This record gives sequence, C-alpha cells and structure tokens, in this order.
Amino acid sequence: MRIPAWTEDELVLAGALVVKNGWRELRTNHREVRELSELLRSLPIHSPEELALPGFRSPDSVSRKTTDFMTNHKLYPGKATRCGKPTLLMIEAFTAREAEMLEAAEALEEGIASGELHRIARQPDEVDENGATAIEGRLLVRRALARERDPKLRSLKIKQVQRSGQPLRCEICGFDFAHAYGDLGEGYIEVHHVTPLYVSGTRETKLDDLACVCANCHRMCHRSRPGESWRTPDALREQMRKSAQAVGH
Ligand SMILES: [Zn+2]
Ligand SMILES: [Zn+2]
Repeated sequence: MRIPAWTEDELVLAGALVVKNGWRELRTNHREVRELSELLRSLPIHSPEELALPGFRSPDSVSRKTTDFMTNHKLYPGKATRCGKPTLLMIEAFTAREAEMLEAAEALEEGIASGELHRIARQPDEVDENGATAIEGRLLVRRALARERDPKLRSLKIKQVQRSGQPLRCEICGFDFAHAYGDLGEGYIEVHHVTPLYVSGTRETKLDDLACVCANCHRMCHRSRPGESWRTPDALREQMRKSAQAVGH
C-alpha cells in the first residue's frame, strides 16, 4: 500500500501554516511542523492501515508539503517542486481568498480540538462520485451535512416558511413537491446552508442560515468540482440563468 495523497482537509491545514509563515517553507525540526504532523495523524479520515504506513504524514512529509506550497506559488522566483493538482488548487484558493481559507483551517482545528469532528459519523455524500470534496475538506462538509440532515432543524425551517404564509417550494428553481406529486409531496423540502462551509462550522445553525431547496438543486449545490466550494442558492440560480441564456430559452 502506498502512502495516500493529501486530502483537502490536510492541505487546508498545511496551506494555513505556510500562509501564516509568509509563504515560506518550514523545516522538519520546526515545532509547528511536528505539531501539524500529529494533528494530521489524528484526523478522523484515515484508516488504521494508512496510519501504520512508515512515514505517513511524518514531520518530513509535512515539511516537504510546505516546500510545495512555497515553490509552486506564482510569485516564487525559483524552481517549483513537483506536486499534485490538489496542492496547486489549494495554493490558488489561498491566493484568491486567503481570509476565508484561514477561517476554514481554524474551524477544522477547533472542531478537532473540541472533539466535535470526531463525534460526527461519516455522511454518505461527503465525497462525491469521483472521490472529490469541497475545497474546505470533507470534515467541514461532514459537519454541515449532519446539520442539514437534522430532522428537527429541517422541520423547524419548514414551519418557519409555512408560518410566514409562503408556499413551500425550492428557493432556487421554484419546484413545489406538493404541486408535482400531490399528497405525497406535501410538506417535503430539503434544507441547504446559505452560509459557506467555513462559517457554518463555527457556530450553531440558525434557521436563517438555511434555504429550502428541491433535491435536484440541492445536489447541484453540493456537487464537488476540484478546487471549488459548495454553491450558495444565489450562485446556483445565477448559473441556471446563464445556462438558460446560453441555450437560447
Ligand atoms: Zn430546485
Ligand atoms: Zn446542502
């Protein structure tokens, strides 16, 4: 068994370390490198077999990853080390939206330190059919999914909409389950976080953080494309508008 490639969760944490160090690499004997090595090995995403592999996420491998981050940045004047596409996408993410990615790293660290992320069970769709996850990593996705599936939270959201006198339909495409399926669809809708993953992790979910969406739109909000985050309802609506224009409707 070969040492598996770094996951998004791990790259978020390594990227944050490099960014906080002014986009400079860190050596193996550096205290923060040893701490990150321990943190990575403690993440609830590795199998016992992976953890038993010699050198798995060792301080050496962490230090090498910080070198990848430094030398593959577009402003680095020297020669770039060879690294995989996920690392390049993570460098892009930290370059384009540094504050958000640092928040994601912090949310991850806090969730690990408090034990919360170890308590949440794996969720069916935290990685998609190609094994990809949102750029913020599968653990923040796992936490957000667990909250969206919380039946209590969903029913409170549905009550909120019904009390306001609004029809219960998809906020993105307008699909109405009761309209399409009669009795069977009565009262059915899914809920999706309006807040991005790096925010939704760090606080209690409020009803206003949730949007009502149909199953199709929900899938498309979550669909993982390498280097991308979950789409907000607004972003997906905009995407639908553009694609309708493109085909001339
Ligand atoms: Zn919809
Ligand atoms: Zn969702």
